[in-house]
Amino acid sequence: MGLRQVWAEVNLQTLKENYFKLQAYTKSEMMPIVKADAYGHGVIPVVKTLMACGAKRFGVALMQEALEIRAVFPELTVMVIGATELDQSDTLVKEEIIPSVFQLSQAQALSEAAVKQSKAARIHIKIDTGMNRIGFRERDFADIMKIGSLPNLFIEGIFTHFATSDQRDLSFVREQLDRFQTFYNKLKEAGLTIPIRHAANSAAILQFPESHFELVRAGISLYGLTPSSQVGGTVGLEPVMSWKAKVSHVKGIKTGEAVSYGRTFQAAYPTRVATIPVGYADGLRRALSNKGEMLIHGRRSIMIGRICMDQTMLEVTKIPGVQVGDVVTILGKDGYDQITATEMAEWIDTISYEVVCGISKRVPRVYVDLTEE
Ligand SMILES: *Cc1c(COP(=O)(O)O)cnc(C)c1O
Repeated sequence: MGLRQVWAEVNLQTLKENYFKLQAYTKSEMMPIVKADAYGHGVIPVVKTLMACGAKRFGVALMQEALEIRAVFPELTVMVIGATELDQSDTLVKEEIIPSVFQLSQAQALSEAAVKQSKAARIHIKIDTGMNRIGFRERDFADIMKIGSLPNLFIEGIFTHFATSDQRDLSFVREQLDRFQTFYNKLKEAGLTIPIRHAANSAAILQFPESHFELVRAGISLYGLTPSSQVGGTVGLEPVMSWKAKVSHVKGIKTGEAVSYGRTFQAAYPTRVATIPVGYADGLRRALSNKGEMLIHGRRSIMIGRICMDQTMLEVTKIPGVQVGDVVTILGKDGYDQITATEMAEWIDTISYEVVCGISKRVPRVYVDLTEE
């Protein structure tokens, strides 16, 4: 059986280089964030590669994602940075997965589960300093003190998350950091000392060293994408994933003929059309219709007509010699040109995160690692 004519190449060597480039920005331990299947890159190969670089703990969004990692790497420290449910407490304790605690009831359930299993449950406390998503707030101080005295719980960490660290104006980040430190100090004065503090995501790793503390949470930057157009243009991170396909059909259409559903593209002159077997079911967003570009023979070509579920058409009139089987670059480099997830995101007013997470399971990931023989 032949491989699909659409695939994503994940360069693990580039991933390693990004890890070391980022590590140069901070003396703190790096916790790679590998939620959402490592931002679409494939969690197991990514974790394996970063473990070899020295990463010792990993962050995910869901307990299910943590279990997936632990099934392959039973000894690895994995933390859930998102929400968990009360009825997951037994499993979290049993599997020694670190949950983020942001409600007293959670801590109580974890403590009960830990007592029942005669284990100690390691937890991190999430503090909300302005994101207003999850986390304890100042008024919940007494709850955290209470958690500190629950049996069989060990509060290893305390953390917060920034709302605007990817912007040039860091004033709100400073405000959040200030609240976080005040909170931490207050707990300490009350007798609750927590060994690990963390706050920085990729953007804060790159532009806000005051927030690094003992641990930083590196997500998008590891995959070689910048958190926003305002951050990290010069860091030298390289995209880890490229996305390619092969032309399935080529033909000429006459002036006035139209392409695809709704006939939204009409040829203003005799036009050559290449069909690519990739569509919105693969994560090529339909909003890119008549807007986005792909690279073919090292040149840009526009996606004409509506993107279909499984197919997309390109205008190749001015690119001579396009044939069935030619490789098209949806994301990545071809010749001197490059299309990044950041650029694709800008075409449809979203962020690179959504582009890479959106490349669906239907697209096989092909792993490349030049250092492995
Ligand atoms: C996703 C996430 C991160 C990683 O953010 P990046 O911008 O991808 O580096 C860090 N912390 C929390 C709480 C997150 O949800």
